Amino acid sequence: MSPVRKAIAALAVLVGLGVLALVTIVAPIVDRRMNSVIPGAAPPPGDDARALHRGATVVDLHADALLWPRDLNDRHRHGHVDLPRLQDGNVAVQVFSVVTKTPRGINYERNTGETDNITLLAIAERYPVRAWWSLRERALYQAGRLREMAARSRGSLRVLETTNDLEVLLADRAGGTAITGGILATEGLHPIEGSVATLDTLVGAGYRIFGLTHFFDNDVGGSAHGVSRGGLTPLGTAVVQRAHALGAILDLAHASHSLFTDVLRGTTGPVMVSHTGVQGTCPGPRNLSDEQLRAIAARGGLVGIGIWDGAICEVTPASFARAVRHALEVGGDDYVALGSDFDGATRTPIDVSGLAALTEALLNEGLSRTQVRKVLGENAVAFFRRHLPPRL
Ligand SMILES: [Zn+2]
Repeated sequence: MSPVRKAIAALAVLVGLGVLALVTIVAPIVDRRMNSVIPGAAPPPGDDARALHRGATVVDLHADALLWPRDLNDRHRHGHVDLPRLQDGNVAVQVFSVVTKTPRGINYERNTGETDNITLLAIAERYPVRAWWSLRERALYQAGRLREMAARSRGSLRVLETTNDLEVLLADRAGGTAITGGILATEGLHPIEGSVATLDTLVGAGYRIFGLTHFFDNDVGGSAHGVSRGGLTPLGTAVVQRAHALGAILDLAHASHSLFTDVLRGTTGPVMVSHTGVQGTCPGPRNLSDEQLRAIAARGGLVGIGIWDGAICEVTPASFARAVRHALEVGGDDYVALGSDFDGATRTPIDVSGLAALTEALLNEGLSRTQVRKVLGENAVAFFRRHLPPRL
């Protein structure tokens, strides 16, 4: 072998070792650091709350668990979500939101889409090469990953695409089967890469909920954390129309105020805000005003309240319960739900196995048992019954 070839071979080995180090060491460290539970933030719930929680249908509208190097079939001691812990938390339905691009130096005030943290994570997690640079391919890969994990789950995870899937799941759970249903959602529609037709591809891959923007303005519309604070672009208007024709649900979490208003004006289709806080208890750039809460409630939408600092300021179950009570007082009992933002680079008072602590906090906040059951999942189930397609 010539010296040049030797050098190239040595370099290839070094690069290979570097990638291996990223895969085996760096990505799990990032996961551990980014998705943590605050020790002692949630006291263990009492018997009454546990019993109520056990008997409730629990739905969480938002977790980014697919982003991390974790086989969800295995129980982990880090991060927030995996299948054994979803069962411990009695979760019937978990929405798995898919993150495809986040800016470096991410913050709530001002981000551009010029940089991307996910490229390195995608390489470290051994995404196929086509998904290293294409956001569309990242979304398709992550959807495939959920299906692949469901196929290996021995019946404890099923991807839900239709109301029929939902009814079968609820019946199976009522019959004692330990199973969680997963619904796919996007965090931002930058994965359509400028083409409305990609929406059809994403629906074909199983996506049922489309978040329009994430942390930066994209070619669909303005983010609450972007630069322009703009509304729907012409492409965004076409996207909203196509989503409605496809029977998809739109998610206005992370939307700028103008985008929120434009979407509510621009479609009669189903709308949710999957993970948020409320200005009434925690002012901040990504939390909903009373006017926005009323607007979502008035059109039969859904608002998921989160459990991280950006949503509830003080990261405790009691603070979550105060936000829920505020939302109920503003818009009524039928539109409030849980939208944890587990695994969304968040610090939370519990992981998903500890959700009964939220049930106790809601009871302590003075909610009736009927209201608690609605917030834990009945409102979300009613929404999905109305808005998932009936059959494929
Ligand atoms: Zn988010």
